[in-house]
Amino acid sequence: MAELNQAQQLAAEAEGGPQLILAGAGTGKTRTIVHRIGHLIAACGIAPHRILAVTFTNKAAAELRARLSLLIGDDGGGVVSGTFHAISLKFLRRYADVLGYPRSFQVVDADDQKALIKRILKNRNIATDRLHPSYLSGWIEHCKHAGLTPEQAPESDWNGLRLHELYAQYQQELMQHERMDFSDLILNAAILMRDHVAIATALRARFDHVLVDEYQDTNPIQHEWLLLLCGEHRNITVVGDDDQSIYGWRGADVSHILDFEQSWAGAGTHRLEENYRSTGAILELANAVICENTGRHEKALKPTREDGDKPEWKVCNDEYDEARQVLSRIERWRSSAYPWSEMAILYRSNRQSLPLEQLFRESNIPYRIIGGVGFFERMEIKDTLAYWALLNCCGDGLQLLRICNKPKRGLGAKGQEQLAAALASSGLRAFEWLDLIASGQVEGIAKKLVPLAELLASVRQDIESHADRGLNMILEASGYLQSLTAMGELEAASRIENIRTLQDYIELSMAQGLTPIEFMDRASLLQSSAEMQDNEQDSDNAVSMMSLHRAKGLEFDCVVLPGIEEGLLPHQRALDEGEEGISEERRLLYVGVTRAREQLLLTSARLRRFFGEIHYPLPSRFIKKLPTNILQQDSFAQVAVSEQQIAGGIGIGARVSHPTFGEGMILGLEGAGEAMRVTVQFKRSGTKQLMLKYAALQVL
Ligand code: ATP
Ligand code: MG
Repeated sequence: MAELNQAQQLAAEAEGGPQLILAGAGTGKTRTIVHRIGHLIAACGIAPHRILAVTFTNKAAAELRARLSLLIGDDGGGVVSGTFHAISLKFLRRYADVLGYPRSFQVVDADDQKALIKRILKNRNIATDRLHPSYLSGWIEHCKHAGLTPEQAPESDWNGLRLHELYAQYQQELMQHERMDFSDLILNAAILMRDHVAIATALRARFDHVLVDEYQDTNPIQHEWLLLLCGEHRNITVVGDDDQSIYGWRGADVSHILDFEQSWAGAGTHRLEENYRSTGAILELANAVICENTGRHEKALKPTREDGDKPEWKVCNDEYDEARQVLSRIERWRSSAYPWSEMAILYRSNRQSLPLEQLFRESNIPYRIIGGVGFFERMEIKDTLAYWALLNCCGDGLQLLRICNKPKRGLGAKGQEQLAAALASSGLRAFEWLDLIASGQVEGIAKKLVPLAELLASVRQDIESHADRGLNMILEASGYLQSLTAMGELEAASRIENIRTLQDYIELSMAQGLTPIEFMDRASLLQSSAEMQDNEQDSDNAVSMMSLHRAKGLEFDCVVLPGIEEGLLPHQRALDEGEEGISEERRLLYVGVTRAREQLLLTSARLRRFFGEIHYPLPSRFIKKLPTNILQQDSFAQVAVSEQQIAGGIGIGARVSHPTFGEGMILGLEGAGEAMRVTVQFKRSGTKQLMLKYAALQVL
């Protein structure tokens, strides 16, 4: 207990019964949980295996056990800990038979789950443009988060289809296959306790104390699960921070923590105020950001550490300039003896990792992407690259097979096998073979590819030698984009976003003079380097990159938060949603800021390529009004940036050359996309306004 301050100690040693620790980031909530468990074992004589700790990730559970073992010796390992999912699975292994499952049921993986949903829709002759499988699975998941079985699900009509009936069939088929999906685990564990008194009694008697970390992100079914499990002994301790509730979009409901005292009468409440993680300057920024939210528990983080360096905000020209600035800052931190492993880049949207990945790789700085697949491993990126490669005469047979039935062209698994065989026996390369197909000189299965082959040939003719131009045409005309948009709205939007990012990247690379083949090499190298980074055993000594959502509960000496702009943070979706969405985005920024112990850099770009268009985002409303004594702004940004070279990027301050007017510098940009105009100050010809599209500017 010597390692705790007084408030922490009081919480750790509190009596049994419901206890709420509601406190800001970095105030030692997780540490207090660990010590409370230690206290329960060492001082109250409770057997470790009768204590249950619910954590946010499996990794956090392992860490908790390790920290306990340090604290109280080997006994610490006996505490039962894990995520809601993992613990529910344990319960179900024991009792699943009463729900009609064999105890040896399996958890269905994402691919099989998708396949099952597709099959159900197919058997009912429901086309994907009427109801996309992803939409249905999302809807079902939503019901499960809310604790609703098919019978309880709302009657929902979608294009004349009754979703709750499909939900019921999906559950039936899962059961036939002896499978549960991920969300079933929690729901079914709750149902065990909801509907089966004897089991509920047995499970309740299994633990004497239950402790939950990151409680602010529980959803209704998890809330019920806890009520059911702890209803009898009421020994439940929850810790959380309402200001860090960031999973509203997944059904998490912050009211559970705010109403804890109502759900659990007589609950003890503990507030921790001192922050042990971050420097004073970083906390000042965190407080300034979050205090703008309304309807929160008033609390300010009090520093225990020195003031430290001021957090900084850098405005960059575009996303590549941003990546370069981030890189140079990270190298500077490194030269001040911070190890790579103590640095993290936390972004709002996974697509932001692309320019960073590229630059890090080129500079040989070790990095690892945590959670989420590397950009080039994503399905839609692989598909898009396959189309593009075939269009530009460098695609291979695997790429052809990858997209031959995307969108559907009547080529199932068998058809694809035959196709592969036909290609092999032709002795041609895939794109050559497609040319042959386009000219109508093939028989058999290959005939199914005639429309695709013709399309490729005609687009290729249209774009002449401009390799960067045909992607959109081909994706649209082939129906590929359409097949994506038929997915659930959210999913399709993020996939299309990724494709646009790839398009921008192709344009940039072509502007740098790469041939299509060289580009494919670059892409495949990026791909394998991301893979290597992921599998690398000794990934400890690498800069971490992850989404802000993933970063909950973690801490690093140095943190970069890129893309602090309107449209990214707050995200466009939240802006469309209104005040509530914006509040959640602000909490997300608060989570990001409070991950940093000592150094913090925020960046935004003046220009960002997005959805294939060029945008000029405004600085995020969350920081734009902050005074420089809280957030240091680089007044030299403009000058410093203008002296830098921007890879293929047209941005303010970029040095460019024009075929007639010669060398100059970009002073301003107006409009977007096709209609964009640039103002350039030429060395010899004065200032001119030009249509960017026709100006044939080359960035120097
Ligand atoms: P988050 O809200 O981000 O999950 P938290 O409240 O769980 O944060 P912890 O991760 O437990 O905070 O603690 C933050 C940091 O402060 C950790 O490095 C922890 O070891 C340290 N710390 C916590 N309490 C104390 C204390 N009393 N004395 C010294 N260091 C402490
Ligand atoms: Mg914590």
